Amino acid sequence: MKFEKVVIKKDDKVKVLTGRDRGKIGKVLKVLRKKDRLLVEKVNMVKRHTRPNAKNRQGGIVESEAPIPWSNVMLMCNKCMASTRVSHKTLEDGKKIRACAKCGETIDS
Ligand SMILES: [Zn+2]
Repeated sequence: MKFEKVVIKKDDKVKVLTGRDRGKIGKVLKVLRKKDRLLVEKVNMVKRHTRPNAKNRQGGIVESEAPIPWSNVMLMCNKCMASTRVSHKTLEDGKKIRACAKCGETIDS
C-alpha cells in the first residue's frame, strides 16, 4: 500500500494502533508525506529542552508531539465511534469523497 492511497488528511480524527499511545484518539495536526509520518495531537509526546526564546522566556522542558508512522493509525468514523477502513465515493457532480467502509458515513464534509 502506498502512502498516496492512504487518505489521512490534516484535521482527521485518528486512533493509534500501536506503541506507547495505543488506543489514543487524536486530531491530525500535520501530514509529513515524504516521511510517511503524521503529527497527531497529544500523541507521542516528547520532552524537549529549549533555550529561552520569545515564546518561552524561561526556557526549560517543553512537551510537544513527535511524528508517528502513518501505518500506526487508523481513521475514526464519527458515527461508528470506531476506527474504520475508508471507501471512496464519487458524488453526482464528480467530486470524490471519503466514507466509512462500515456504515457509509461521509468523512469529508
Ligand atoms: Zn462508520
